[in-house]
Amino acid sequence: GAPARGSDPSAAARDAASTSYAGARTFDELPLSQYTKDGLKKAKYFTLTAIQRSALPHALAGRDVLGAAKTGSGKTLTFLIPIVEKLYRLKWTALDGLGALVLTPTRELAVQIFEELKKVGAFHDLSAGLLIGGKNVADEASRLTRMNILVCTPGRLLQHMDETPGFDTSSLQVLVLDEADRILDMGFAATLDAIVANLPQERQTMLFSATQTKSVRDLARLSLTDPEYLAVHAEA
Ligand code: ADP
Ligand code: MG
Repeated sequence: GAPARGSDPSAAARDAASTSYAGARTFDELPLSQYTKDGLKKAKYFTLTAIQRSALPHALAGRDVLGAAKTGSGKTLTFLIPIVEKLYRLKWTALDGLGALVLTPTRELAVQIFEELKKVGAFHDLSAGLLIGGKNVADEASRLTRMNILVCTPGRLLQHMDETPGFDTSSLQVLVLDEADRILDMGFAATLDAIVANLPQERQTMLFSATQTKSVRDLARLSLTDPEYLAVHAEA
């Protein structure tokens, strides 16, 4: 049968320990599964970037995170590693359905995130898909119900929420809003609201942006619970 979910007995222990990972400089020093470590090694990722150093310990402990750091600073791994680790710890299988959603403003960014996810998840047994439009909706819909992790543009995701029977988001564990500032700039605020209204309230939410605007702070206020605010202005 499906494994018991909804509680993570090691969470408290990890929480207590997370401060000791605050000084981690390499991925090897973080409390990651061997599968994830092997994927990172194969992709030749060894040293943490500044935003990864500051945000990963909190994100891995399951906290909500608002991370701001300029383009090119390594925000993608900052959310992909915690997603993969959480589903791994929960022994997520194909039968458990959708465990994590990543929303990003453009197709190009979604494809880049998906490529990075293939590296981090190379040795894991998780299914992942892209929902970015430009493909046949029916094709997407037929594969959708089997995916554990989806990387989406907002419009296409909402379309499937409205139109695809059997698309079940009720088990979702992690929501990521990547480039939240651009999602809002592109006029997706109402779409985001409608998407979030379809998701379980008890979940981990991580919000990333290159800039700290008022609209991003408002979005954080509405979608995050007791978040860690982590901003990196320049590489140390
Ligand atoms: P951002 O989302 O902040 O713009 P990305 O996550 O796209 O940044 O990362 C930018 C580039 O840095 C990518 O090519 C990525 O592969 C690389 N990168 C990310 N983290 C690391 C790391 N820890 N070590 C080496 N390269 C990294
Ligand atoms: Mg990015």
